[in-house]
Amino acid sequence: MPSKIYAILRQQPGQYNAKPYTAFQHSLLSSLLGFFTIVAIFFTLRQILFMHDITMFTADAVGAIIGGFLLYKLKTKKRVAQIAKTTTYFIFFFFLLFSIINQNQEFGLIWSIFFPAFAILLNGMRFGLALTTLYYLILLPFAYQGIGVWEDGAWTLQAFFRFSAASLGTVFVISLAEHSRERVFKTMHLMHEKERRIARKLHELSHRDHLTELYNRRKLQEIFPQKIDTATRDSTYFCFFLLDIDYFKLYNDTYGHQMGDSALKQVANILQENLRRSNDMVFRVGGEEFGGIILGSSKEVIEERLNTIQKALRSANIEHNSSEVERYLTASIGAVISQPLEVCHCFEYQFSEADKALYECKSKGRNCISVVEM
Ligand code: GH3
Ligand code: MG
Ligand code: MG
Repeated sequence: MPSKIYAILRQQPGQYNAKPYTAFQHSLLSSLLGFFTIVAIFFTLRQILFMHDITMFTADAVGAIIGGFLLYKLKTKKRVAQIAKTTTYFIFFFFLLFSIINQNQEFGLIWSIFFPAFAILLNGMRFGLALTTLYYLILLPFAYQGIGVWEDGAWTLQAFFRFSAASLGTVFVISLAEHSRERVFKTMHLMHEKERRIARKLHELSHRDHLTELYNRRKLQEIFPQKIDTATRDSTYFCFFLLDIDYFKLYNDTYGHQMGDSALKQVANILQENLRRSNDMVFRVGGEEFGGIILGSSKEVIEERLNTIQKALRSANIEHNSSEVERYLTASIGAVISQPLEVCHCFEYQFSEADKALYECKSKGRNCISVVEM
């Protein structure tokens, strides 16, 4: 019975996909239904072979058939909560009807002690306890009026009180079990949620650069094939570029490392502002080097956008007195632009081609754009 529950407990953090409560409900329901059906079949056979009581035979046979049917439904359909409710209503009427017909012959009333288990453990504390209360509100007055009559008068007031106390005790014990079970599952659920939140956070942190908060190189490598797939699907040009700040070592030497950090953040913001379209991506791939992906309808459109980015950086007028290009911070861009449907999926290859283009740009005097076409 508890194999499903063990399977859930064996799961690694972040791997929970089955709902533990549903699995528990399923195991319990199939055990209770199985037990009920076997007992009902046994009593049906007993009625045929030895007792010959047609009313009791009918009641037992109907119980066995419906129990078996619900068990079959449980195995084939996975709507556990719905079958649990149907089973509870069925057992509710079955036990009451059985008690009324049987009139406690051979102490048949004892079977009704199973009702709280069905009601409370299968439907939860609130609904289960309400149904159990209703059940005993009907059963006990009925059993009370049988005192001195049932079992040829052997059903006494003392027997009635004994039965009532035992039933109350059973309800109490089952309620306690259900209460602690609900608490355990609630705690498990909360722990699971917390783990998922931490896992999400860790994943996010491991894919971002902490200084600029841009995506890092790991994310670039992860997203690269996806973006190529998008470009292929939409038949657009695909551009991967590297942007490297010019003479940044000199910037650090002149203004200090802290100012260098703040300049890197400014550059990151400018890049983000200019790469806002749905398929644009920007990354910090290392030191003062950034990477980007642009999808565009033509090579010219993409080149125009690269120009805009470069101009935006220059127009920010970030002072850089020691630069050999200008008095302000500038950057060089090396880009690879691939034709629609001919994009090479090889990340390392495109990266090295963009890097070569960037090197060419640096050797030409910096603050320019060099494009490789593919
Ligand atoms: P080039 O124009 O050829 O690119 O020259 P460069 O000085 O920009 O290039 P180089 O590779 O010689 O120097 C890169 C500098 O970037 C050196 C390093 O101190 C600085 N740098 C890298 N990462 C950081 C960072 O996180 N913060 C700061 N402040 N500086 C950084
Ligand atoms: Mg540089
Ligand atoms: Mg560099």
